[in-house]
Amino acid sequence: MNAIEVNKLTKKYKDKIAVNGIDLQIKQGELFALLGTNGAGKTTTIKMLSGLILPTSGDIMINKMDMKKDTFKIKEILNVSPQETAIAPNLTVKENLEFMAGVYQIENKNKKIDELIKLFKLEEVINKKTKTLSGGWQRKVSIAASLINDPKILFLDEPTLGLDVIARKELWKVIEGLKGKITIILTTHYMEEAESLSDRIGIMVNGNLVDIGTSKELIKKTKAKNFEDAFVNIATGGEL
Ligand code: ATP
Repeated sequence: MNAIEVNKLTKKYKDKIAVNGIDLQIKQGELFALLGTNGAGKTTTIKMLSGLILPTSGDIMINKMDMKKDTFKIKEILNVSPQETAIAPNLTVKENLEFMAGVYQIENKNKKIDELIKLFKLEEVINKKTKTLSGGWQRKVSIAASLINDPKILFLDEPTLGLDVIARKELWKVIEGLKGKITIILTTHYMEEAESLSDRIGIMVNGNLVDIGTSKELIKKTKAKNFEDAFVNIATGGEL
């Protein structure tokens, strides 16, 4: 079954067409990476798919529900870990998780928080204020918090942006652990991240979704020697 079906999805900001009539299907349990150069329309797409902003036109179906009619039901089954980490700096890690559990009115909240502490190995930082943590830890906490409502679909917008290679690889492990259990849509500028984590990759250029496939398929199609070259070929229309 498709978790997400998108039909002619478009977003215009005044004269700027940020997303230009894209069609997309993402299967349940799939990890789909959305790549593109700066300003290609990735974040705008994620914001529409997660119900944060309204499309100018087009349809979004999430688990067979229509985003226009069933917005509230859809929001119950998805969550977003945004580019800017969504955690309160003056609260401890535990307080942040408790706060999010409150927002989502999680019934068995202590059990859920304990599960997340284990999954993300947060024990050593659990009583520290998040503003005192490194960027890597803050991202981990932010992603942990986005799982508080057991989402069926999770949007990760540049989850490892600016992290050092160790912190990035640690987060990859966490994301790999979620693979298959929930549907994940990830945006990234790191080719290696898309290649190693995702089942399929979509490439956006100037608001258009110009290609979709596995990294192997995209390498083969462009006759490139590696995925980065394949991406550059597709993103520049073969001009670089
Ligand atoms: P990046 O990789 O730099 O994060 P992106 O692929 O996520 O880029 P978007 O942030 O979706 O790209 O932006 C797509 C286009 O829409 C850009 O030209 C951007 O300037 C424009 N845009 C985005 N948000 C707005 C807004 N609120 N008002 C006007 N234009 C916007």
